[in-house]
Amino acid sequence: SAKAAGRNTYRFFSDEMADAVQRRSALRADLAQALAGGQFHLVYQPLVQMDTQAVTGFEALLRWTHPVHGAIPPDRFVPLAEEMGAIVEIGHWVLDHALADAATWPPSIGLSVNVSPIQLEDPGFAAAVTLALLRHGVRPSRLAVEVTETALFESGGTTRRTLDDLKALGVGIVLDDFGTGYSSLSLIRDRRFSKLKIDKSFVDGLGVDPDCNAIVRGTLGVARATGFRTTAEGIETAAQLAWLRDNGCDEGQGFLIARPMRPDAVADFLAARASGAVLRRA
Ligand code: C2E
Ligand code: MG
Ligand code: MG
Ligand code: MG
Repeated sequence: SAKAAGRNTYRFFSDEMADAVQRRSALRADLAQALAGGQFHLVYQPLVQMDTQAVTGFEALLRWTHPVHGAIPPDRFVPLAEEMGAIVEIGHWVLDHALADAATWPPSIGLSVNVSPIQLEDPGFAAAVTLALLRHGVRPSRLAVEVTETALFESGGTTRRTLDDLKALGVGIVLDDFGTGYSSLSLIRDRRFSKLKIDKSFVDGLGVDPDCNAIVRGTLGVARATGFRTTAEGIETAAQLAWLRDNGCDEGQGFLIARPMRPDAVADFLAARASGAVLRRA
């Protein structure tokens, strides 16, 4: 009967939802053990100067290898870690390990670390960054934190103080995923930021979608006029690279240049670049 079908439908969705909730809470419980279990590691993706292709630095990207499910992408577990509050402790781990790796690189090579809005709301964050830099003997000017626009849109007084303290320390502050939030143009007037990163979604549309060309060209123009450095993320084709270089983007990052790599591959990558062996010309 219709009534029975209705009940079954209801039960079906109800079970699906219960499954989803259970999977999520199981993942959450596993995530709580991941740090102590040594299940995290970092990979590094290079940033290069657009005109010379010289490496300027690396972005640290967090990886979680779940003991049963294998690799779980950060887009899935970072939001969970934020909800649980675990992102603060995980963030300290990321900073400490990334700085330990960066300490072994040439001093001209920078390090970018992604930072969650919850970390910026932690009143101890700037002090923890200072201590980590001292512990590893890394100059503050080599470090940049990447913050998403959306994070800043909802930010409170502690975040403002954290950003002021980081800036005073000499740490760079990068606006990540630029163009995807709500407050792009007002943020450009905020002198605490050292650089903006044009989101991959705009880079994807270059040469394909005239709106993307216009938006990126406009963003690069505003950035240049206001003294912002620019990075484009997610460059996958030689045509995108050439377009960005010709339109005055300072720096690039993407699978075309290199995929994120294990820490032990960084030295070889830098050596190969320095010898010009893999110099790419668009
Ligand atoms: P994001 O900071 O915007 O990082 C760029 C993402 O784009 C990375 O994904 C990177 O692997 C990917 N990517 C770079 N070039 C290309 C390309 O040419 N093609 C494609 N298809 N993808 C490219 P990933 O590593 O999965 O990280 C996703 C997001 O997770 C990051 O976005 C960042 O917001 C967050 N995340 C990663 N590591 C951390 C961390 O240590 N802490 C925090 N709070 N967030 C992190
Ligand atoms: Mg980033
Ligand atoms: Mg980004
Ligand atoms: Mg992005």
